[in-house]
Amino acid sequence: SRQVVAIVGRPNVGKSTLFNKLAGEKISIVEDTPGVTRDRIYADVDWLNYNFTIIDTGGIEPSTDDKMLTYMRQQAEIAIETANVIVFVVDVKTGLTDSDYQVADMLRRAHKPVVLCVNKVDNREKFQYDVFEFYNLGLGEPYAISSIQATGLGDFLDEVVSHF
Ligand code: GDP
Ligand code: MG
Repeated sequence: SRQVVAIVGRPNVGKSTLFNKLAGEKISIVEDTPGVTRDRIYADVDWLNYNFTIIDTGGIEPSTDDKMLTYMRQQAEIAIETANVIVFVVDVKTGLTDSDYQVADMLRRAHKPVVLCVNKVDNREKFQYDVFEFYNLGLGEPYAISSIQATGLGDFLDEVVSHF
């Protein structure tokens, strides 16, 4: 059956921007119960000889910090349940946060392939050393990308499809 790739990560790290770059025009919004954070957006991606479905687990994101952890847990659970490969997006501009570590722990325990994606690396030379920090999550090699510029996506997608 068709492989499913779920995108998870804190609000504002650029999940939807990455999703839109990968999806092009082929986006279908799947709304669950309004106000419940399980809303998902699906798209079909054709890349080289690979066809797969991506899910933006972002949906409705909380604006207060006290709800954040619950939200992040739910989001990670959706990904763990439904995906063959999980893309965990972090933000080079904010660096690592507590919730990044919490989600990394959940994902590590799920024993599913996780590809760590360091977004907003708009300038590779400038952020070269900052990207190394993300090895501390214990999820292997961080793939540096810029979703806005659509750079770094080739190496990142190679890693994603290597788990199919
Ligand atoms: P989400 O909440 O994780 O879905 O994040 P969004 O995709 O909505 O992006 C949050 C903000 O980060 C927006 O202002 C985006 O324009 C910005 N953003 C996303 N990707 C990049 C990137 O590669 N570089 C930079 N500089 N900003 C980005
Ligand atoms: Mg979003």
